Amino acid sequence: MRRALLAGVALFVLIVAVVLIRTFNFTPEAPSTVELITHEPDPDVLAQHMSEAIRFKTISTQRPSSSDPEQFEQFIAWFETTYPEVHAAMTRELLGHTILLRWPGTDPNAQPVLLTSHYDVVPVIPGTESLWKEPPYSGNIVDGYVWGRGALDDKSGVIAIAEASTLLLKKGFTPKQTVYLSFGHDEEVSGREGAGAVAALLKERGVQLEWSLDEGSFVLDGLIPGLDKPVASINVAEKGYTTLQLIAKAAGGHSSVPPGRTAVGDLAEAIVKLQNSPLPGGLEGVSEEMYDALSRHMSFAQRMAFANRWLFSGLVESTISRIPAGNASLRTTIAPTMLSASIKENVLPIRAVATINFRLHPRDTVESLMEHVRNAIENDAIEINLVSGNEASNVADTSSPSFAAMKQTVVEIFGDVIVAPGLTVAATDSRHYALVADNAYRFHPVVVGPEDIASFHGTNERISVDNLVRATNFYAQLLINVNE
Ligand SMILES: [Zn+2]
Repeated sequence: MRRALLAGVALFVLIVAVVLIRTFNFTPEAPSTVELITHEPDPDVLAQHMSEAIRFKTISTQRPSSSDPEQFEQFIAWFETTYPEVHAAMTRELLGHTILLRWPGTDPNAQPVLLTSHYDVVPVIPGTESLWKEPPYSGNIVDGYVWGRGALDDKSGVIAIAEASTLLLKKGFTPKQTVYLSFGHDEEVSGREGAGAVAALLKERGVQLEWSLDEGSFVLDGLIPGLDKPVASINVAEKGYTTLQLIAKAAGGHSSVPPGRTAVGDLAEAIVKLQNSPLPGGLEGVSEEMYDALSRHMSFAQRMAFANRWLFSGLVESTISRIPAGNASLRTTIAPTMLSASIKENVLPIRAVATINFRLHPRDTVESLMEHVRNAIENDAIEINLVSGNEASNVADTSSPSFAAMKQTVVEIFGDVIVAPGLTVAATDSRHYALVADNAYRFHPVVVGPEDIASFHGTNERISVDNLVRATNFYAQLLINVNE
């Protein structure tokens, strides 16, 4: 008995020792001492160009026929006169209203690269215009901010890439690799005719990019609980977008003599069962790399848990899963969004339909998802219809020279921030570009806080002039860094 007790105590002490040693060794990379680099873009010119760009109502609506093509044409003309150096040095093609520029590199054998962003914007919800502190298409410059729809998503990308290219051209810089610049016109409505057409054209010409860089994440400031430093999240994959319908059928009839359960009841049960059967999630692949990088900067308890996943993985995963954004980073999510059934309150439904939107984690496929749903609802009488099914993207390589160059550039422009790979949970144009790129990265080089995040597709979207300066510096420095 005494011996067993002693053995138990010894084992406990050993486990505690291992846990502590692993925790103390689980430390962040040393903070960077690199000096900040600036290419000295003129903040006033940047703000002015941003302001002008916002004033074009290049709005993507769900029905393309209700967009205003003239606004897009005027934007293209404005872009050409505003960036003469870019248009003199590069050849331009228009694919619909998407602008594709080719900046020839000096080495014909080097793989080309792509910088991209989109200049279409989502509409302002009718009735919310008066909630804006500055009118949504004014481009007003107030207290160091340029206001309006598209300021963050994603006209600032267009402006920063064009300004950075102009700065480099004025310095006489020529890239070794051919650089493509692509500015999409329909990202907010699938990107098929813009980015999709660009990817198809490059493929047809036999162009395979070494890497592409698009929107998809930011330098996140005050957005990740437990971290006091900003996090530059360079996203290496994006989730797939899949919509299914669950359809329950029944005989119908008068609601005064209903069966034990109507089609609505069957459907409701299926939805509840599905919501109670989350898809498997877990800390592996890109999710693991991301949390590994972040948790090194967290509190002792959090570091201890992450450093000892051999012991605490269940606890870590369930803790992350409790927060919706954390859950979305670990697994395919399930969101029932629409319901329909009978046409009248006293008519039994012959069909009840639920629309469910899923965001596919890279570990799942549309096929494996449908299998999961079938098993979860345990009712073969419920029909499962695939409305749309986009797989998750490939996962870009975080050990590539291009990822290292991006990391290096982040540190040179943003200073002491945490750089971590991440997963984009929404859809971007990169799902198209990834088809012709060895590595598709998603990172818009601006600093955003909680207020900025709320303004995406919402009210009071704006960008600081400081952010425009940093983004311009980032793109210029990135092209220099990858050239070396
Ligand atoms: Zn966007």
